[in-house]
Amino acid sequence: MLFCALAGVRLLQIVNRFQERIQMKRIDLQSCLDELLVCASFKDYCPNGLQVEGRDPIQRILCGVTASLALIEEAIKCEADAIVVHHGWFWRGDDPCVTGTRKARLAKLLAHDINLFAYHLPLDAHPVYGNNVQLAKVLGWQPTGPARQEPLLMLGRVEHPIGAGEVARSVAARLAREPLLVGDASRKVSTVAWCTGGGQGFFEQAIDAGADLFLSGEVSEKTVHLARESGVPFIAAGHHATERYGIQALAGFLAEKGLEAAFLDLDNPV
Ligand SMILES: [Zn+2]
Repeated sequence: MLFCALAGVRLLQIVNRFQERIQMKRIDLQSCLDELLVCASFKDYCPNGLQVEGRDPIQRILCGVTASLALIEEAIKCEADAIVVHHGWFWRGDDPCVTGTRKARLAKLLAHDINLFAYHLPLDAHPVYGNNVQLAKVLGWQPTGPARQEPLLMLGRVEHPIGAGEVARSVAARLAREPLLVGDASRKVSTVAWCTGGGQGFFEQAIDAGADLFLSGEVSEKTVHLARESGVPFIAAGHHATERYGIQALAGFLAEKGLEAAFLDLDNPV
């Protein structure tokens, strides 16, 4: 059963199959997720795993894309013991001082003794729960595996070769969000490459890997020129919109373990 009803936000329900919900010690949940997502093998821009320690044990978990103030407030309303996100805190290059919005978020989390777990690149790349693989499921693409020497760049095929314009229309329908298509809309697409979120920097590698089209979440000014000059169209489908699915799948995994877990989609236009 879902543990709370939230007004005005889209809550995707993960129904717990177990009659009796379990509690897990924080350290056990941490090692379970760290091992599942093979955190030790990633060099990342942020710490993966437990970022802020809260109460122990843990039973109720709210999952979301980003550890925003809004998500923390929903976790407080739901009396969640832990928040699990894709975008956590303490990014390399961040101002390390606890001031302004950083202070507001941290103060709320600590005041309510809620644990914060974050999984960034390990959740992008995971072969089952990862953003790239889960996005392919939603888009109906068949992944053939990551590009050589770049585990975050996924390659795959569309079911039947179609024009890039048609791919963009299908993406719009499946993500319920209008993407930006740049480049040749009439190019026939059979091999696709993609990287969720801010993966537009992999565009040249996608071209080198033989992709007919590259999709990511965000777009940069130079991406447009590369699409036009290479003849390989590019789709920016939204950072948030392409990264909703890994953390949602992880919420499903936690629910399967017997924990009370739900995914909350707090919309973001970017
Ligand atoms: Zn991201």
